[in-house]
Amino acid sequence: MNSVLRADDSEGLRSRIKAVGYAAKHCFSHLKLLEFEREAAGEKEIEIRVLYCGVCHSDIHQVKNEWHNTIYPCMPGHEVIGRVTRIGPGVTRHKVGDLVGVGCMIDSCGHCEPCRSSNENYCESPNGWLGTYNGPLIPADRARGNANIYGRDNTFGGYSNVMVVKEAFALKIPPALDPDAAAPILCAGVTTYSALKRWGVKPGKHVGIVGFGGLGNMGAKLARAMGAHVTILTRSEHKCDEATQMGFTAMIEDDERALRASAGSMDFILSTIPEKHDINPYIELLKRDSTICVVGCLAPLEPVDNAEVILHRKDISGSLIGSLRETQEVLQFCAEHDVAPDIQVIGVDELNDAYHKVEKGDVRYRYVIDLTSLQGGSG
Ligand code: NDP
Ligand code: ZN
Repeated sequence: MNSVLRADDSEGLRSRIKAVGYAAKHCFSHLKLLEFEREAAGEKEIEIRVLYCGVCHSDIHQVKNEWHNTIYPCMPGHEVIGRVTRIGPGVTRHKVGDLVGVGCMIDSCGHCEPCRSSNENYCESPNGWLGTYNGPLIPADRARGNANIYGRDNTFGGYSNVMVVKEAFALKIPPALDPDAAAPILCAGVTTYSALKRWGVKPGKHVGIVGFGGLGNMGAKLARAMGAHVTILTRSEHKCDEATQMGFTAMIEDDERALRASAGSMDFILSTIPEKHDINPYIELLKRDSTICVVGCLAPLEPVDNAEVILHRKDISGSLIGSLRETQEVLQFCAEHDVAPDIQVIGVDELNDAYHKVEKGDVRYRYVIDLTSLQGGSG
């Protein structure tokens, strides 16, 4: 077992429960076991025993401080599946024993226009929404009026044995879904579903998916279930073959001949590449009046040749996860259309190795941690 870190045990007004999880102490450190405390479930909150948690590439960006906003210790995990073990006195949506999911958000202001119109993933409060890990999207030192409306600087995610969340931010898991394979739907699934839906993917449409990792795998399966023809663009010959075996069209993303042959053929492209990249070759694949949505790269891209964008009135866009309503919807959609991500279930002790493999693009196609192997605390 790895050595044990200890988090600050500061006294709060609410009673607290003991928990354990895997966290990084700084941007170069491995994830190690951390003993900590969570506030016990309040009036409208539920306590859950975490069963499974997906490993999203965002977790790695965050642990390594690649977005320059990480608060340490950093305990990632926002594709969480768990069973309800306790409920607060005012809880009506869930009961003890229910299987629930927690995605990227655990709170939002509830008052702004996006929150009131079921778009809490675009919450316009000074702090944005409260992340399942790493605290508010906009921390106090960068927020209007140095506010922190959530009163919490750091939050610990699903790489842990127990979580406490507001009942409204816990999703119901349809019984038709396997709990382990349901985990990635809570981020990879809803992020791709929200974009595919917004840009009108339906039967007869041709969708390009760039980068065949966790998001790419879910996005391709969801687009197909929506009736679209799907083309995967990947760096890897192996994944090209695997995508073909899965029934998708596939090409190497810098194969100029294949790109030329597909020019002007796509109605929508989703790029999931996790770093700075050149989208110009993909823009050429779009039909007139079509959109490329970049969800993978939260940083400047290579400069865009705007002539191509002007000449064929093409759109370049982005999209941030999905709302609670969309998350419940995509869970139901997956249950009804028999859509499940390809996953590899690992124990917590394999987590650091899994991070290396995700960084190398060497995962098929999402690692999901089995948290039942994590003992300790009171959870
Ligand atoms: P993965 O690592 O699982 O998949 C990304 C894939 O992109 C890889 O498998 C690889 O596919 C390809 N890729 C990786 N590096 C490069 C590179 N340098 N050049 C070209 N292709 C590359 O990551 P996820 O799917 O979990 O996440 C993808 C990105 O999306 C991350 O940056 C994550 O933070 C972000 N994200 C954004 C969200 C949003 O709301 N906008 C929500 C969730 C995640 P291949 O081997 O096929 O080339
Ligand atoms: Zn994610």
